[in-house]
Amino acid sequence: MHAFAVDGLPEIDAGDDLAALVAERADLTDGDVVCVASTVVSKAEGRTAALAEFTPGPRAEEIAARLADVTGEQKDPRFAQAVIEEATEVIMDAPFLLTETTCGHVGVNAGIDRSNTGGAELLLLPKRPAESAARIQAGLAADVGVVVTDTSGRPFRHGQRGVALGWAGLPAARDWRGETDRDGHELAVTVEAVVDELAATANLVSGEGDDGTPVVVVREFEFGDHDGSEQLFRAVDGDFVRQALRDWTFDGA
Ligand code: GDP
Ligand code: MN
Ligand code: MN
Repeated sequence: MHAFAVDGLPEIDAGDDLAALVAERADLTDGDVVCVASTVVSKAEGRTAALAEFTPGPRAEEIAARLADVTGEQKDPRFAQAVIEEATEVIMDAPFLLTETTCGHVGVNAGIDRSNTGGAELLLLPKRPAESAARIQAGLAADVGVVVTDTSGRPFRHGQRGVALGWAGLPAARDWRGETDRDGHELAVTVEAVVDELAATANLVSGEGDDGTPVVVVREFEFGDHDGSEQLFRAVDGDFVRQALRDWTFDGA
C-alpha cells in the first residue's frame, strides 16, 4: 500500500463540504481509504466553541481546585466544564482529565483541541464521528472507506499517534482468530485494529502543526481474506485497567 496527502485543501469552515473539497483535489479509486483528521471534520461541522459558553458547575470548580492543589496547575474551570459536557465519563480528574467521549474513545480532555481551531478558543470532537465518516463516504464517487482520525496520547509510552474515532466502508478490525501462525499454532486472541493502524499511517503523513494536510489517502491496502470485526472500544465491563483507574486517586507526584 502507499499513502499520500491530498494537497491544496483550504482552511475549513463551518458548512464546508469536505467530500467535495477532497474529490476536487484527489483522483480517488475504488478501494482507497480516505483518512480525515477530526480537526477538519469538526470545523466543517461547526464544532467550535468559546470558553464563555461554559458556566462551571460545582464539579468543574472542584476539578479545577483539586488540580491546583495537587499539581499547582491553574486550569480554567470553564475548560473543565467544557470537558465534562463533552465527556460521557470522567475516568480520572487529576493530574489530567481522562475521559470517555461519545463515540467510545478514551482520551485526555474529551479530545478538545486548542490548536488548529481556525481562531476559535476550543475545537470539540465531532459528535458522532462514524456518521461523519459515512457522510463523507456518501459524498465521494469512488467506492472508498473513510476513517476519521485524531492524534491521541497513550498510557505506558511517550508520544502521540493517530487513532480512529469513526469509520465507514471497512471493518474496524481484522479477526485472525482461528487462523494459524507459521508453526501451525492456531491464533486465539489476535484481533488487529486495522482502522487504528490506518489512522496512525495517516497521522504520520499529516503532521501536527501547520502542514495543512488533514486528508490522507491510503491506496492498495488489502484487508485480505479475514473475518471483520466492528469492535474497537472496550466495554467497561471487560476493561480491568479502566476499572482500576476508577478506584484510584492522584494525591500528588
Ligand atoms: P487532529 O490530529 O485531528 O487534532 O488535527 P491536527 O491539528 O493535528 O491537524 C492535522 C493536519 O491537518 C495538520 O497537517 C494541520 O496543519 C492540518 N489542518 C488542520 N486544520 C486544517 C484546515 O482547516 N485546513 C487545512 N488545509 N489543513 C488543516
Ligand atoms: Mn485533535
Ligand atoms: Mn494531529
